[in-house]
Amino acid sequence: MPASLPSSPPLRWLFLDLNSYFASVEQQICPKLQGKPVAVVPMMSDATCAIAASAQAKKFGVKTGTNVGEAKRMCPGLQLVLADHSRYVAYHERIKAEIERHYPIEVVGSIDEMGLLLDGRHQDEKVAVDLAHRIKQGIRENVGEVITCSVGIAPNRFLAKLASDIVKPDGLTVLHLHEMPQKIAHWQITDLCGIGRRMEPRFHAAGIHSIEKLWAATSQQLHQIWGGVGGDRFWQELHGQDLGHFATQHSSIGHSHVLAPEFRYHAQAVIVAKRLLSKAASRLRRTEYRAQGLSLSVRAEGQPLRGDAQSRLSQPLSDTFTLMRLLDRLWPEVMRQIRWSRVKKISVTLHDLQSNAEPQQLELFPELQPAKPVVLARQEKLSQIMDTLNQRYGRDSVALGFLPNQVKTFSGTKIAFDRIPKQQEFQE
Ligand SMILES: [Mg+2]
Repeated sequence: MPASLPSSPPLRWLFLDLNSYFASVEQQICPKLQGKPVAVVPMMSDATCAIAASAQAKKFGVKTGTNVGEAKRMCPGLQLVLADHSRYVAYHERIKAEIERHYPIEVVGSIDEMGLLLDGRHQDEKVAVDLAHRIKQGIRENVGEVITCSVGIAPNRFLAKLASDIVKPDGLTVLHLHEMPQKIAHWQITDLCGIGRRMEPRFHAAGIHSIEKLWAATSQQLHQIWGGVGGDRFWQELHGQDLGHFATQHSSIGHSHVLAPEFRYHAQAVIVAKRLLSKAASRLRRTEYRAQGLSLSVRAEGQPLRGDAQSRLSQPLSDTFTLMRLLDRLWPEVMRQIRWSRVKKISVTLHDLQSNAEPQQLELFPELQPAKPVVLARQEKLSQIMDTLNQRYGRDSVALGFLPNQVKTFSGTKIAFDRIPKQQEFQE
């Protein structure tokens, strides 16, 4: 009777992860791709990386992040499909609607992940499994027969997500706490969500080389490895505690872009950087946040050079004017670091976000020419007007720091794997 053991808390979460999502959507839309190895790519170039691979391509070792030239060698007959993010968002909406016909979604983790918080009746294993089957069938019948998902059912969201990774594709796994860690004993610790490759050396230094050892580690040990409460939290989640969940809170907003070869010269690259910043700033305003930090990073083409610079403001703000001035100061810094080479990739991130609901303190910037509060308020207002015009007349109708038609050929809503673009973003 495992359910009555204190170590086996109820099955409170059902987590659903769509398999090879972008590639499956492409196969659904284009039947001649079905059953074929497919890689979805951000541009048609061997130098870029796959952003998704179909199940058939994965058999050849092609996965998200595989270099396209290499993927073609690994998998003869690989079909390349140019990413069309508006399709993935449209299918995302249809999938959510289908799931909600069966049970309300509690949290949307990303474009291909949804979590359901199970009520008392659905915490019964049979009922939960039956719900999962009905959702899978509903997606097959009403969204698309090649759109499959892997489902995990477990005591908390963390373990349910982990369980959804156990069988892919089209899996369904119930994970009781008393089955841990045996059920994933063959995994690497870096297979766990929240443990990146960069953290691995710290685990090794602490003598933790396996899932078994990780399971046996104390909360204090993990605290030390993480260097903070993140470790305690990980321990609690791994051990089945339901820490509750909070409405998604932004901690940063960023955009990055791999430049098409014709945009890699300095004069074009700086425009792309400004375009990314104006997009991030627009999103910042739409989500009603202000940022207190801006970071810029660039990667050089053809050599391992990287430039990073950041700036912190003495107060959070969201107006494009001030942010552009900051960018103008960071740009030469990062370019110097890459010795003014051609730029392959640019990332712009606004961080230290604060909700607009919090009162804004009107201090002066140490970093910039002092701007009067009234000027700031006016700039913020003007930035909002730009957003409205761009929503109404199409993206880049009004731009700041570059001519709108300079970027027409490059811009497009890129998808991030950790969030879903809102429909408005296709206009930002
Ligand atoms: Mg997935």
